[in-house]
Amino acid sequence: MQTKTLGILGAGQLGKMLCERASPWTLDTVLLDAKEDFPAAQLAGTFITGDFSSAEDVIKLIGKCDTATIEIERVSSEGLRALMESGITVHPHPDSLDIIKDKGLQKDFYRDHDYPTSRYIHADTKQAVIDLMESDAWNYPVVLKCRTDGYDGRGVQICRSHSDVQSAMAGPYLLEDMVKIDTEISVIAVANESGEVRSFPAVEMVFDPEANLVDYLLCPAKIHPKVAAEAEELARKLIADLKICGLLAVEMFINEDGELLINEVAPRPHNSGHHTIEACNHSQFEMHLRGVLNWPLPEIKLVRPAAMINLIGSGETGPAVYHGWRELSAMPDVYIHLYNKKICKPGRKMGHITICSDNIEDLKKRIPELRGILTVEGDATS
Ligand code: ADP
Repeated sequence: MQTKTLGILGAGQLGKMLCERASPWTLDTVLLDAKEDFPAAQLAGTFITGDFSSAEDVIKLIGKCDTATIEIERVSSEGLRALMESGITVHPHPDSLDIIKDKGLQKDFYRDHDYPTSRYIHADTKQAVIDLMESDAWNYPVVLKCRTDGYDGRGVQICRSHSDVQSAMAGPYLLEDMVKIDTEISVIAVANESGEVRSFPAVEMVFDPEANLVDYLLCPAKIHPKVAAEAEELARKLIADLKICGLLAVEMFINEDGELLINEVAPRPHNSGHHTIEACNHSQFEMHLRGVLNWPLPEIKLVRPAAMINLIGSGETGPAVYHGWRELSAMPDVYIHLYNKKICKPGRKMGHITICSDNIEDLKKRIPELRGILTVEGDATS
């Protein structure tokens, strides 16, 4: 095997876990991101300081790698095109990335390719949204989304009145029917240049009904096997239609009528695939590397059921302080992943915990007992 150097744009936790998986293959890595204390920087073969959203900085990878990929969508597509012109293999392709970066173009793609998705319309301004809401075609509640730069629910607002529309972030927008969601699931697909396509088993986002926040992710999802198979097939078809190599995470809703609707996609490793490190025969990080490097894609299997809980920052903004690590780390089949983020902020993803069990009922019973043992907060006094 020839030694290859993989460029990764972004040095957050996804870049860190990609570097961890690249290490046993002696795959050299060169990472580019704003600061040398970011989670993946210590694991990078070479670290380049730069802004991945600027084409001028992305081209700093020219001459430094054979293949380049991303761990975040906000990377400059113009920069990626310049890397391709210099002879570097780039995945995902910037044309596909441009569709995904804009929730409006993503929805148009689903419509044009006959994928099931919620009804929607584009609206550039708040006034345009209000005009639509005053027409017969639209009724509150609706979901208003900023077309670009949203993440983790930021830029997504449920609107029940004109005043909710007035308080939304700046447009342009995508206006969607509010789906009566029964279950939210995610399927991660992977493809390579040779045309091989695989998918991971569907994952369920289990919500806390009181807080209305994702409580934990569960694999296998508690859904009908026929629906799971249909979702996995949709994800495999979509990755091929979007011409993506590497991973594509496909977030879907199952509505109250049992229909699958595609919500959105991400062309990179995804939060809903973290459990695959311990629970699958091949992790999402390994499969992303295989996909972008055009290495073989073996069949993916869930070896044992798993749940994943995000470790979210609390308290003030300040140096991260962890509590409960000893107690949690004493428990069998519990895997703690800390992202090594120096500063903890309320709501920031600081790590995750995966719990595996051969018995899914036993797994679900253990979650309330485990949740909350390990916490992280910012120390505002230091
Ligand atoms: P982000 O890109 O910030 O993750 P999403 O489009 O995934 O934004 O939306 C965040 C959450 O908002 C979803 O997980 C879902 O719970 C809810 N949501 C999004 N779109 C709709 C919709 N059309 N109907 C009902 N709920 C929705």
